[in-house]
Amino acid sequence: MQVNRNFSNLATSYLFTEVARKQREYSAAHPEAEIIRLSIGDVTRPLVPAVIDAMTRAVAEMGKAETFRGYGDEQGYGFLREAIKKYYAGKGVALTLEEIFISDGAKSDVGNILNIFSTDNIVAVPDPVYPVYVDTNIMDGRKVMLLDANAENGFLPMPGEEHADIIYICSPNNPTGAVYNKEQLTAWVDYALAHDAVILFDAAYEAFINDAALPTSIYQIPGAEKCAIELCSLSKTAGFTGTRCGYTIVPKALVKDDASLNAMWLRRQTTKFNGVPYIVQRGAEAVFTPEGMAECKENIAHYRENAKVMGAAFDKLGLRYCGGVHSPYIWLHCPDGMTSWEYFDVLLSEYHIVGTPGSGFGKNGEGYIRLTAFNTAENTKKAVERLTK
Ligand code: PLP
Repeated sequence: MQVNRNFSNLATSYLFTEVARKQREYSAAHPEAEIIRLSIGDVTRPLVPAVIDAMTRAVAEMGKAETFRGYGDEQGYGFLREAIKKYYAGKGVALTLEEIFISDGAKSDVGNILNIFSTDNIVAVPDPVYPVYVDTNIMDGRKVMLLDANAENGFLPMPGEEHADIIYICSPNNPTGAVYNKEQLTAWVDYALAHDAVILFDAAYEAFINDAALPTSIYQIPGAEKCAIELCSLSKTAGFTGTRCGYTIVPKALVKDDASLNAMWLRRQTTKFNGVPYIVQRGAEAVFTPEGMAECKENIAHYRENAKVMGAAFDKLGLRYCGGVHSPYIWLHCPDGMTSWEYFDVLLSEYHIVGTPGSGFGKNGEGYIRLTAFNTAENTKKAVERLTK
């Protein structure tokens, strides 16, 4: 037998384990130090009441013979897909129920969607970015072409001459917090149409966009239904990181190599996936109700305020950064020419603050550190006070 040798091409991922190890060792040596973690990529606020109420009702239903549910449709219950369809209609995007697939989160589908593409495809991935895009393609043996995201292009790489078959776009971006505007996304859609390519648009942070002029969905760009798949998640929108629910949009108009990608994805999901739990889907449905939306928006406003507090402090200190406006992430340029890990050590030892070294997200991340707004207002203010003292 043979194993998948592509795995040996994966870089050892030591970013978060190394961050945790350094923090642990520092705390053990300095037990009096009150460490503030601005490295958290996870929400810190609990699920909102509308979601809890809906899930509680669903739990009761599961306990009664008349309302018990077993296997549901692999692509999700109609009630949740209907709620998402309405949510998109509010963005000016018309979808049919068959184009919406409920997932157990964006991460799974970011990896799984590759099932429907040939391993001969050339893949374009921004650098720095969410590491799952590169790693899942390396596992399959695809050729990855990195697109430089740096201060010169505002961390938003634009299409060039080179051909790609699959293009990853993450907007608002993890880790830089940069967000594409309509003209920039139009250029990508035009490129994808001209190159017969498919855009995999990761909208995991769309709920953080705070300007009606900025696209929250790739389908707000004309022609995107012919060249893009959108992956989204309730993790950051509604605190579902532990509850697990997301959705993937595969338009019916997306036909490549004489094949309907919608039909292929349906076939893939009905073969390899058995759906998201009923209780979770009822909770997800509640996110899209007026109460649920209002409650979730309150949490997002809280994180946004934390980001604003950090941004104001960095402005005062004259530190360069990107993000923090339409994103929970602040991409801070390390001062005094320090590398990501050198500044990580300074933040930890002098300010008792933990960040995530930017170099862990790609070569262009060197010299940056990612700080997040996922914390309490109190901790955020405390961290900022330490830095500005
Ligand atoms: N996409 C991006 C860009 C992310 O940053 C994350 C998580 O941090 C995910 C997807 C994963 O989301 P989910 O929790 O829905 O799997």
